[in-house]
Amino acid sequence: MSKLDAVVVGSGPNGLSAAITLARAGLRVQVLEAHAETGGATQTRELTLPGFKNDWGSAIHPLAVASPAFRQWPLHAFGLDWVYPESPAAHTLWPASTGGVLLERSLDATADGLGRDGPTWKRLFGPLLHDWEGLLHDILRPLLRIPAHPITLAQFGLRGLPSAHAVAGLFQTPEARGLWAGLAAHTTLPLTTAGTSAMTLVLGLLAHAVGWPFPKGGAQAIPRAMQAYLEFLGGEVITGVSVQRPQDLPDARVVLVDSSPAVLLRLLGERAPASYRAALERFKYGPGVQKFDYALSGPVPWLDERVFRSATVHIGGTLEEVTESEANHAGRIAPRPFVLAAQQSLFDPSRAPAGKQTFWAYSHVPNGNSVDIRPQVEAQIERFAPGFSERILARTVTTAPQVQAFSPVMQGGDLNGGAATLWQLLARPNLALTPYRTPVRGFYLCSSSTPPGGGVHGMAGYHAALTALHDEFGLREFGLRETP
Ligand SMILES: Cc1cc2nc3c(=O)[nH]c(=O)nc-3n(C[C@H](O)[C@H](O)[C@H](O)COP(=O)(O)OP(=O)(O)OC[C@H]3O[C@@H](n4cnc5c(N)ncnc54)[C@H](O)[C@@H]3O)c2cc1C
Repeated sequence: MSKLDAVVVGSGPNGLSAAITLARAGLRVQVLEAHAETGGATQTRELTLPGFKNDWGSAIHPLAVASPAFRQWPLHAFGLDWVYPESPAAHTLWPASTGGVLLERSLDATADGLGRDGPTWKRLFGPLLHDWEGLLHDILRPLLRIPAHPITLAQFGLRGLPSAHAVAGLFQTPEARGLWAGLAAHTTLPLTTAGTSAMTLVLGLLAHAVGWPFPKGGAQAIPRAMQAYLEFLGGEVITGVSVQRPQDLPDARVVLVDSSPAVLLRLLGERAPASYRAALERFKYGPGVQKFDYALSGPVPWLDERVFRSATVHIGGTLEEVTESEANHAGRIAPRPFVLAAQQSLFDPSRAPAGKQTFWAYSHVPNGNSVDIRPQVEAQIERFAPGFSERILARTVTTAPQVQAFSPVMQGGDLNGGAATLWQLLARPNLALTPYRTPVRGFYLCSSSTPPGGGVHGMAGYHAALTALHDEFGLREFGLRETP
C-alpha cells in the first residue's frame, strides 16, 4: 500500500472529527479503531432487552449542535436528525408533586419560573447569550490564545472563574440554587472547586442558545453520519484494530491519536523526551461514572408532571444535597447520589417497543470505583418517582472500570478524559500554546484529554487536525479562518 497522508488512531467523536478535517483538505486518511463500531463513547445498543435502544455513553448533545466544526459539515445529509424536547432540562427538587424547576429554551421563560431570582438568572446569562457563538469560538480551543471576542470572554471569565458553589450564592430561591447546582454537577468535580462555574455557565448558555437535543434513533447516529461523510470524502475506516506499539502504525506522514496521554506515550516510545513524558504522567483524572441502562414497562412515574417535558432530568434535590453528593468523591460513595438521567424514548418512539420506554442514568463515583451503587441510585429515583422500580423490565450496570476498559480516554471512568480543573483547562495534557502537538514530529494528540476537553463536539480533533495541516502540509482547510 502506498504511504498514507494521515492515520488517526481511535474513532471517537474527536478521532472522526480530525479525520474529516484532514480529508476535507484532500488528504488520504485512514482511521483505525479497536472496537467493531466507530464512535467511541457515543454508542447505541440493545443493552437491556431486544427492541430497546440504549445509549451506552453520551446521550444529550448541546455541544454537538453548537460545535463550530460539526456545524460546517453536512451531517444531516448523512443521516443525522435532531429531536428537541420542549424543555432542555428538568431539575427535581423536593419529593412532592410541585417540586421541580425547568430549564427552558427561552431565557425569559426560565427566569419567569425562578421567582425573585429570575432577574439574576438573566443578568448571569444574558450578556453571554448575546454573543454565544463568539464565546464558543474562544473557549472551545486552547485558552492560551489572543481572544477574538475579548469583551464576551472577559464577561465569561468574571462569572466562570469562581466555584459553582460561590456563584450559587447569587441566588436566594431553592429553585434557582437547585437548577444551577444540577448544571454544575456535570463538571464531575466538587461544586466548591474553583472554575467549576465555567462549565456550568456553558451548559446553561447552550440550553438558551441551541437547546439540549439528542439524535433521532440513538446517539450513535452522530458517529455514523461522521463516518459516512468521511468515507464520502475518500477517507477509510478500519475497525477491530488495536494500535498499541509503534510498529502497529501504518506508514503515514502524520499520526493523530484519539486516546489517552498514556497510549500516546506508548506509541511515541523512546522518541518522547523525558520532560514531555513526565508532564503527561502528571495528568490527573477526576471522578468516574457508574452508568445504568433500563428497559421499562412504561414512563418513569414522576410525581411532578413537568418532568415529562424534558428528555434530561437532574435528580438530586437542593443545592445543599447536590453539593454534598458531589463532594463525596474522596473515596466515599454518596448515600444520596446526584443522578443525571435521560428519557429519550418519550420523544423518540423508535427507541423502544410500543408502550415501553428506555431510561438512561449515571452517577459520579470515586475514580476507578467498582462497588455497585445501584441501591442508592434507584432509591434516589424512587424519591421523585415512586413506583419506578416496579416498571423495570431489565437493567444493565456499567462500572467505572468497565467504562475505562471500553475507552482508555476515560481513565478510571472519568468521562471528561481528565479532570476539568482550572489548571487542566490550561494545561491539557501539558502547558503549551498548542497542546495537540507533541515533541515528536508528525505526532498529535486529539482526544478529549486536549482542549476543550470532554463532551461530544469534535473540537479537539478539529484543532489537532488543523495543527497537523499547518505543520506538515502547509494547508488551511477551505473556508477556515482558524490558525492552529
Ligand atoms: C456514560 C457517559 C455519558 C456521557 N454523556 C455525555 C452526554 O450526554 N453528552 C456529551 O456531550 N458527552 C457525554 N459523554 C462524554 C463524551 O462521550 C466524551 O467526552 C467523548 O466521547 C470523547 O470523545 P473522544 O473522541 O475524545 O474519546 P472516546 O469517545 O473515548 O473515543 C476514543 C476511541 O478511540 C479508540 N481507541 C483508543 N485508543 C485506541 C488504540 N490504541 N487503538 C485503536 N483504537 C483506540 C477507542 O476504542 C474509542 O472508540 C459521556 C460519556 C460517558 C462515558
